Amino acid sequence: MKQGEGDMATEYFEKVLFELAKKGEQDKVKFLKSLYRRIMPSQFERIKKNDKSVFAELFMPKWVTWELLKAWAEGFEVPGKGKTCILCESKNENGLDFNDRFICESCFVRLKQLE
Ligand SMILES: [Zn+2]
Repeated sequence: MKQGEGDMATEYFEKVLFELAKKGEQDKVKFLKSLYRRIMPSQFERIKKNDKSVFAELFMPKWVTWELLKAWAEGFEVPGKGKTCILCESKNENGLDFNDRFICESCFVRLKQLE
């Protein structure tokens, strides 16, 4: 992905969400916000690759366009496993908890080296 592409996609997606909310279309807003639960990870990857054949498998309501779906996929970050590190903000399964804050293994190693 080129830099900025994801941001533009997110912007478009947010704009649509905003317009729907303004029109009082709460059901549609809710639907878009929970999109990830309706789409399998493999399908998610295909959307990102602009593989339109996946569109027929998804049975999306008519108002959900391919453009919108793709914008969503480009801006959406797949929830990873593990906890979010307070230093690098990436998800990691290995690391340590300090007072309810999680520090991932690689950041912890880096901190140790600074000592
Ligand atoms: Zn980290």
